[in-house]
Amino acid sequence: MQSDYSKIIDPVKLDRLAEIAVKVGLGLKMGQDLVLTASLSALPLVRRIAEQAYKAGAGLITPIFSDEELTLSRFHHAYEMSFDRAADWLYEGMAKAYTSGAARLAVVSDNPLLLAGQDQAKVARLNKAMSIAYQPALEKIAGFYINWNIISYPTSAWASLVFPDLSIVEATRALAEVIFTASRVNNDDPITAWANHNWQLKKRSTWLNNERFSALHFSGPGTNLTIGLADDHEWQGGASVSRNGVICNPNIPTEEVFTAPHAYRVEGHVRSTKPLSHQGTLIDGIFVKFENGQIVEAHADKGEVVLNELLDTDKGARHLGEVALVPHSSPISASGLLFYNTLFDENAACHIALGQCYSKCFHNGESLRDEEILVRGGNKSLIHIDWMIGSGNIDIDGIKADGSRVFVFRKGEWAI
Ligand code: ZN
Ligand code: ZN
Repeated sequence: MQSDYSKIIDPVKLDRLAEIAVKVGLGLKMGQDLVLTASLSALPLVRRIAEQAYKAGAGLITPIFSDEELTLSRFHHAYEMSFDRAADWLYEGMAKAYTSGAARLAVVSDNPLLLAGQDQAKVARLNKAMSIAYQPALEKIAGFYINWNIISYPTSAWASLVFPDLSIVEATRALAEVIFTASRVNNDDPITAWANHNWQLKKRSTWLNNERFSALHFSGPGTNLTIGLADDHEWQGGASVSRNGVICNPNIPTEEVFTAPHAYRVEGHVRSTKPLSHQGTLIDGIFVKFENGQIVEAHADKGEVVLNELLDTDKGARHLGEVALVPHSSPISASGLLFYNTLFDENAACHIALGQCYSKCFHNGESLRDEEILVRGGNKSLIHIDWMIGSGNIDIDGIKADGSRVFVFRKGEWAI
């Protein structure tokens, strides 16, 4: 049993975080249903979100909980073959809910290293089974058919990793404060603060869209990488309009502008700059080589088995589906902390994602069919996994169709 540290988290700020999730993150509409996934450890936030959502006129809220003890129990006692199975019926049901107009909210709070001590081959098989089963739901989410949001809640196990030198109580309080600050809740008027922040991100993406780069060139220690951008790509950042017409902020926090690489026009090599925590295991010191957009060689100092299994998920797993720019001075990066959580770490550094692209990263993306996105260089995969390649030592050039270059980043910061 874990002790209950939830009482030391400021209830007023927690309530504001719930309000931000519902009003800014989801932009929940009157009468709209909501599918809410969370770990039981995040129950205090989930209850506040439900209250805020019902006050905002939510239709039916359906919470779906996981439990860390229960996950570990599976690794300790479940029979061998069961690691290739996942609850496909559940994700088909979620997809059905999204097709019927439900919004989706995920609360992230898990211990990032929950499965670090377990059999890595089993972890890899479980990840693959999950990816396959999850596809119907992921399609609706990655295609922005509905408004969705991911937000996080500070649990003591996660906090102890981020603040190893503090007591559990102090660490939990400290992580809560970081989450509140990064989520712009430590502010008299969080809603206005988010409107201003979204406007700043929109300015960056508009500049990039006007430049119409055909590729970005990343250089830095261990990295010499040219990422061709998809034809008709469009940069996104901050608030998004989903296909149901609702304006949402999918990630809270968010500091990135991002677009779709061309799946077959990536060349060179790249080294990760932060560890990637994926489904309870740590993958650190990633080094990969690309040829014609495909990863032809992959190494990791830690978690190489899980990494290679991820790359073997399907054909698209070896190609990129996202490239994102985040300045080294972003507030999350400036905290100097390593969160072992992609929602935070990806907003502290430029990153790329293996796998599925976002259709909204294409001009008129919502009206394009899958095949039309593939023709433009979009990537298709069961996975979408972001990992960090940015730092204070990274330079990025924008390359235009005529070969001319424009400084985009110098020493990890916007050059414009
Ligand atoms: Zn991203
Ligand atoms: Zn991503």
